Amino acid sequence: MTNETPRPNRSGKPRFQGDHKPRGEQGAKPQFRGGNAKPTTNHRRHREEPEEKFIRRAIPDIDTPFTRMGIDARVAVNLPPMGIEAPSPIQEKSIPGIVAGRDLLGLAQTGTGKTAAFGLPMLTRLLNIGRKPEPKTCRALILAPTRELATQIAENIDAYAAGTAIRQFRVVGGASINVQTMRMERGVDVLIATPGRLIDLIERGAVDLSQTKYLVLDEADQMLDIGFIHALRRIAKMLPRDRQTLLFSATMPKLMEELAESYLSDPLKVAVNPPGQAAAKIDQGVHFVTQGDKATLLAEYLGKHRDELAIVFGRTKHGCEKLSKLLEKWGFKVASIHGNKSQGQRERALSGFRAGETKVLVATDVAARGIDIPEVAHIYNYDLPNVPENYVHRIGRTARAGRDGRAIAFCAPAEIGELRAIEKAMKSQIPVVGGEVPFEASKIRERGGPAGRPGNNNAQGARKRPARRPSRAPKSVQRD
Ligand code: AMP
Repeated sequence: MTNETPRPNRSGKPRFQGDHKPRGEQGAKPQFRGGNAKPTTNHRRHREEPEEKFIRRAIPDIDTPFTRMGIDARVAVNLPPMGIEAPSPIQEKSIPGIVAGRDLLGLAQTGTGKTAAFGLPMLTRLLNIGRKPEPKTCRALILAPTRELATQIAENIDAYAAGTAIRQFRVVGGASINVQTMRMERGVDVLIATPGRLIDLIERGAVDLSQTKYLVLDEADQMLDIGFIHALRRIAKMLPRDRQTLLFSATMPKLMEELAESYLSDPLKVAVNPPGQAAAKIDQGVHFVTQGDKATLLAEYLGKHRDELAIVFGRTKHGCEKLSKLLEKWGFKVASIHGNKSQGQRERALSGFRAGETKVLVATDVAARGIDIPEVAHIYNYDLPNVPENYVHRIGRTARAGRDGRAIAFCAPAEIGELRAIEKAMKSQIPVVGGEVPFEASKIRERGGPAGRPGNNNAQGARKRPARRPSRAPKSVQRD
């Protein structure tokens, strides 16, 4: 995908000629939403203003909560049409420090507004440079674990930077490396990359990081989970020491502390949700069920909310594909995304889901990371994740943009260990909403206090002899 728009005229002509008005005064501003419609994450409409691409606008004379925090008015003016009127907590806590040049360690999940938290100060800084990037270089580098998250960041940056001369370019696996190499010949303001593809491009001599003064590591814990630690260590060595670095992570495992230490210098620390804790508006539950009955149970849950968007998380690519075919056979509008799907297939699946054409998305952890679709009302943990922190990421795909959401975990007898690890990481028990509590789980729950919801007979009543504990070691995290 060529995800950039042509560079505007930089001939140095006066910014305003004829009738051009500052953006804030323009009558026909690109709209993200009609009337009172909800904000959408599809910001591509900004690209539908061809004649405006070539106009460098003057700095609008506006006073907003963002300009007061030091964000350039040329960027701040783009925010209200996107439904961004006032800073979110992570933005409020981090933007002033970032604008002042501090490194940042941000503990925040997707959905908190962290893209704007790092994107707005980054664009402000880039706008003040005012020179073209040198060939093969990028002034700012944003590293993200997955193609989907990279795409989402790219769309956000395009929207925040609309009407300015700043351009981003996204380099991810699954797209032509030759096209990416050719594009990098010119250099770019903001490079958004997955670590693996970035290393490939560096090895080809297509990317030079010596001029990169602004670095963002987004969802860094997920980058570690999928084995990017070596790539990150190599990238760290190629960057100038004199740079500003922002690291965002939803959790803070040990390895992350090491990474943070090597990348950050005297960082400002900001947390919006304590690490490993789920957002308050998610109504969580665990349903005990045998592995063999999971598909039927899922169909029952899905059948009750046919018109609402649901994401179903499976553990393996093969398992997700099989489940998605089965649900399709049973009449659900379903798509799947996992590492065996091509970039095009993943993007089509996501856009169909975002548009509500498919209601159910069956996904592996890695492929679903970073999905930001406010309409997602239900999360089903069809298989429990074997990395407990991924539970928090998964359920964080719902209850976004101030909405409510529901997350049901299907726990088979062999998954009690995973459930326990999740509850330990979250420091709270997930209420039982159905099924028979297996003996092992009930013992754990007794020790930790009552588990089920009041009035839930299943939760407090029936117990079963323990199923045999799985003898296999937990599989390592799947690499997509
Ligand atoms: P993020 O956490 O960056 O993935 O952002 C999640 C969603 O929140 C995106 O759709 C943003 O456009 C939106 N958003 C970001 N900041 C704000 C804000 N201050 N007010 C309202 N919406 C926001």
